[in-house]
Amino acid sequence: MTGARLAAMLMLLSPSADAGKSKALKELEQVAEQTARRTVESEFDRYVKQAAVLKKHRDSGGDADVRGMLQLLDSAGVIGSIQSGRGFGQGFRPFKVRNYKGLWRWPLRAGIVSSEYGRRWGRRHDGLDIAADEGVPVMAAADGTVLYAGDKLRGYGNVVILRHDQKTTSLYAHNRRLMVKEGDSVRAGQQIALLGSTGHSTGPHVHFEIRKAGKAVNPRTILVKSRF
Ligand SMILES: [Zn+2]
Repeated sequence: MTGARLAAMLMLLSPSADAGKSKALKELEQVAEQTARRTVESEFDRYVKQAAVLKKHRDSGGDADVRGMLQLLDSAGVIGSIQSGRGFGQGFRPFKVRNYKGLWRWPLRAGIVSSEYGRRWGRRHDGLDIAADEGVPVMAAADGTVLYAGDKLRGYGNVVILRHDQKTTSLYAHNRRLMVKEGDSVRAGQQIALLGSTGHSTGPHVHFEIRKAGKAVNPRTILVKSRF
């Protein structure tokens, strides 16, 4: 049990004011509080250290591979026309486009962004790198379906691509293990993988991309502000 939960339970057990609490109970509460604080701090410190290591080496996925795959899925009719945003391939059934703005969530419960989206030293980075512990859950950033779950995208290791509407996809790379398969429906916050360091990666982190019509956009413009 975490310290925070222990403290919450103790609050429930003892709803009365401080005056009514026994010395032993107060001491127990203090211990719970300290434990909760220590747990948060140590996790944060650990992630900061990992992020510092990752910062030195930026991971490199093959953007061409992702775009190529999305185009292939598009032309095969698996997804709606991602290039034009109009028309549908054969066998593709149109569905209602949902406005996911504001419904997106970060793909990890906690972590530190070690590399931002954008250009650095002449190289493009199509997503955010978020450092966290090996094996923690990687979660779907919004409701969607699994377009791809495998290891065939150069540099990305074990990767999941989700489709959220006709034009919007998200990608989660370098996972240790994948928990979903192609065609699965997923809900926002559902676990889709275990975080890892597969592919071109120098430490445990998730490389997270959001694409509109195949083109990468800065996830920070879509996600809720500054959780990491
Ligand atoms: Zn990255």
